[in-house]
Amino acid sequence: MKVSEILKTDNVTISCEMFPPKKVILLDKYKETAATMAALKPSFLSCTYGATGGTSDYTVEIAETINACGVPAVAHLTCASSTKEKVRSVIGELKDRHIENILALRGDIPENADFPLPDQYHHAVELIEEIKQSGGDFCIGAACYPEGHPEAASVEEDLVHLKEKVDAGVDYLTTQMFFDNNIYYNFMFKALRHGINVPVVPGIMPVTNANQIKRIGTLSGNLVPPKFLRIVERFADNPDAMKQAGIAYATEQIIDLVANGVNHIHIYSMNKPDVLEAIFNNLSDIYVRE
Ligand code: FAD
Repeated sequence: MKVSEILKTDNVTISCEMFPPKKVILLDKYKETAATMAALKPSFLSCTYGATGGTSDYTVEIAETINACGVPAVAHLTCASSTKEKVRSVIGELKDRHIENILALRGDIPENADFPLPDQYHHAVELIEEIKQSGGDFCIGAACYPEGHPEAASVEEDLVHLKEKVDAGVDYLTTQMFFDNNIYYNFMFKALRHGINVPVVPGIMPVTNANQIKRIGTLSGNLVPPKFLRIVERFADNPDAMKQAGIAYATEQIIDLVANGVNHIHIYSMNKPDVLEAIFNNLSDIYVRE
């Protein structure tokens, strides 16, 4: 099923995410993780491409496993580290394996690489155009950044490029993580002013361990509210308490979003079915799984 169809419902939907393995020897284990997460009945489950330690090679295979478990799969696809030829071959593979949903991304520019090479896409918008021209009947998602992409001179400039992605044929957007919902609400106001009229699914990251906190600080330059910082200061050295507090914080963010009329939520669940299950249990009368 296409994500664009799923997002048409007025019911609350919650999707989640995992990353693929680095090595083939771990593929079966990761397929088990996909099955465990799928059994929790998220609205859809996406698999990243070359991010967070996983490699691109197994994204299509994991996505196929997710579909086989009866949950709609989204395969992420990036273009910054690949030739156009490689990208086209992955799109062909996705079509052949009946993966209907692609999250089209540029990806981070690889360090120590000449970017872009002559045979390479520069921005996600070109990848979106390529997917559109591929002849596959895909639902296409893309990324957006409520606090502005780190490379953009301003949020306004970033929104101009975001509108180009929407005009190129994006069906929905998923946001970068944020820890203060007002950032999302303000962003939605600006996005609407720029004519961005596709669903914008907020991405919520349950921060459940101290390592994640260090990575968030360096990766995306997120604004971290004092309330969140106090939780980290108090619990970072106590893994069980940090996990419980991180799950509670993410749950609270989701409840506030739903209470304010945002029906579709994406959880950066990062191969942690236990965290996903705990959040789903907290929301059992809000996100009602069929
Ligand atoms: P783009 O949309 O190309 O934007 C990148 C920058 O270029 C922005 O500053 C933008 O303003 C600017 N820009 C865009 N178009 C133009 C243009 N035409 N001219 C000039 N400037 C332009 N990374 C992975 O490696 N694998 C993943 O699976 C993955 N999944 C992600 C999922 C989500 C929901 C999000 C939010 C991010 C994900 N990322 C992933 C990270 C992402 O790849 C990086 O943030 C990357 O730096 C930007 O990708 P993008 O698709 O947003 O790029």
